[in-house]
Amino acid sequence: MKLPARRAAETAILTSGCTKRLGQLSRRGLRALEYHAMSPEPAEAVHESSNPAAAEVDAKVVASAPANLRSQLRVVLVEPQHPGNIGACARAMKNFGLRELALVAPQKFPHADASAMAANAGDVLDAAKVYPSLQEALADCSRVVASSARPRYISVPVSTPREWAQTAANRVAAGEGGRIALLFGRERTGLTNDELDYAHELIVIPTGGIDSSLNLAAAVQILAYEIGLAAGAAIPDRIVDDEPVDQATMERFYTHLERALIGTRFLDPEHPRFLMRRLRKLFGRTAPSANEMSILRGILTSIEDVLRGFGPRPK
Ligand code: SAH
Repeated sequence: MKLPARRAAETAILTSGCTKRLGQLSRRGLRALEYHAMSPEPAEAVHESSNPAAAEVDAKVVASAPANLRSQLRVVLVEPQHPGNIGACARAMKNFGLRELALVAPQKFPHADASAMAANAGDVLDAAKVYPSLQEALADCSRVVASSARPRYISVPVSTPREWAQTAANRVAAGEGGRIALLFGRERTGLTNDELDYAHELIVIPTGGIDSSLNLAAAVQILAYEIGLAAGAAIPDRIVDDEPVDQATMERFYTHLERALIGTRFLDPEHPRFLMRRLRKLFGRTAPSANEMSILRGILTSIEDVLRGFGPRPK
């Protein structure tokens, strides 16, 4: 008899079918993908295949190619202190085609200074969503990138705005979906370590000067400019045929992982050290897909099944 967790994990492996399905991608499909990266025409116009399974993959891959990095981005300002800066950020975003602004517990908003500094970007400001916590602002995002002037002890990949924008535009051109959150910190103190823990990547704007800290809206402007440039020059960096998971799913996974590791006694809750922080970095870096996440959760459940002696699962 197969244990349910094992069955779930195996099903996930089979249904992910990533390698198998990529193997089926026809030459024509790949050519279509190359062509489509440069073409404004709808994907279907260049798709042809005699193999129905390959056709399904080709259509999915090619159809996702025209996505634009700008439309997947959410600019997240964490506890901005000056409403004028919120308006200036909205203006910088609008100048370079970014539209989605999220504000986590802003000190003063809405505010006349925000509207004044936004100038023609009143629409971006009006559409801005206010969230009570950073976790809520990130729940439906699959990638979190923090803009920070400071290096960290347990670090994630760091790049300049130019490097990051090019890599991100290429990923999106290849078909990687999901919302991307770009985090910016408070004017006075930046982002806390706990907030930086959510980030899969860091962007640092190299200043070359003694003072590395830019004004908040100036930092947003530099990133928006680089993103605008890169979005027009993207090339697919690989073929993507599985959706990334969002942060809410990752948080449920971390809770499950922590519980299982306490169960096996690998993690001592009295002396946790930095284990969960390090594991967050590890799994965050791999950006697991939905199918890979099913496998991981299945593995954890199978461990807990063993710990319980295969007794009934708690509700
Ligand atoms: N004094 C704070 C800086 C706050 S500036 C600190 O030391 O962290 C407000 C925000 O602008 C920062 O949290 C960061 O998101 C962004 N920012 C400012 N300078 C930056 C730089 N050189 N590189 C990347 N982001 C920067």
